[in-house]
Amino acid sequence: MPGLGEVIPAPGSSTDVYAPNPEAVVVAIDPGHGGCLDWGVPDPSRRGAAYSEKTMTLGIAREVERLLSAQGVTVVMMRERDEALAGDDYPDLGCTGPAWRDVDGDGQAGFEETGRVRTRDELQARIDRANVARADVMVSIHINSMTQNGVVFEIAATQTFYDDETPWGVDGSGVLAGAIQADVVAALDPVAAYERQDRGTQAVAYYAISRQWQDGDSCETPGDTWCKPHRALQMPSALAEVGSITLRAEQDLLVSESGQTAAAEGVYRGVIDYLADRSQAVRYDVPDAVDPPPSPDGPLEQARILPVGDVELVLTNRGMDDWPADLELVAGWEASELPYLPLAPNRLDALAVDVPSLGPGESVRLVVSLPVPDVAGRQVAWITLRGPAGSYADLGSPALQLASMERSSG
Ligand SMILES: [Zn+2]
Repeated sequence: MPGLGEVIPAPGSSTDVYAPNPEAVVVAIDPGHGGCLDWGVPDPSRRGAAYSEKTMTLGIAREVERLLSAQGVTVVMMRERDEALAGDDYPDLGCTGPAWRDVDGDGQAGFEETGRVRTRDELQARIDRANVARADVMVSIHINSMTQNGVVFEIAATQTFYDDETPWGVDGSGVLAGAIQADVVAALDPVAAYERQDRGTQAVAYYAISRQWQDGDSCETPGDTWCKPHRALQMPSALAEVGSITLRAEQDLLVSESGQTAAAEGVYRGVIDYLADRSQAVRYDVPDAVDPPPSPDGPLEQARILPVGDVELVLTNRGMDDWPADLELVAGWEASELPYLPLAPNRLDALAVDVPSLGPGESVRLVVSLPVPDVAGRQVAWITLRGPAGSYADLGSPALQLASMERSSG
């Protein structure tokens, strides 16, 4: 193993996905909806679960997972099967899944008339999974329903949404959404024996991909799609409506193997195109960090725990360009009972360590001292590279977060 501070060469590969170092890449895939209560959009054909949005999105997502994994990329699936993460326990509707969790910390959990409490907890659970994995990108896969005022439009279309209000919104999420949109259209059109529409990309901040909550935001108007999560995604993301369920031929295609393969190929190509264009990015690994014990209620995911003593970090350049020469590693602490920090602490201090100008795919092993502040309660550290262009967390490379101790309770 190379010594401290020595550059570890990029392994290099002949893969399609980030050839300098595909193993440094983490892609989070969200198969939209899932579980007993949430089948996704209403299906006018009423052909049952096999033809529902939740089943089609899972099939496509699994194929994306297979394609990426075959290239050595780590894939974090928001769900692996027909399941809901935040609970699915509503016997009145014949649903006897896991107990409800208050994932977003608003004091409410479970299914009520509007379904908003359940939806927010479920989407927060998925956001948390991508954030704690410090994914490069998060892609949410959905199937649209073309209806207006109860009228069903029998048309097929692809459209991709992103949020342009995050620091990495236009240059990160917007580029990712554009690549996915173009590649899904290019993959699905040739296998469709009917006309399809390319509806392009649109900046619409659906909750699953929305920017962070800010003071003054509201979440309480029924049907308010502008509602903001209290812990938003910390990396570029896109929500792809790869097709629509309201045209019977398109529904048949997206249930079939050829349709699912084509849609997945499109998403996969979009992720590749995005990564091939990304200039600056970092991955942090902490070999000695300790996994927190699973929480019986509340959030499912939380920051890993800081090892005792000095901390060994492995930094990897997972962008396409060399890092600038004058990068610094900065860190700050914040007292928090949240599973991890949604935003950077007010104060970030430079750590006493030299960060070499790594080329694409290269890594370096560093040891830093990260003393826990001498105050009571759980503290969470936020660690990020900072350079001439600002914090890498603001470029869409999620900060490394380490907690001083486990959470006291759910
Ligand atoms: Zn959907």
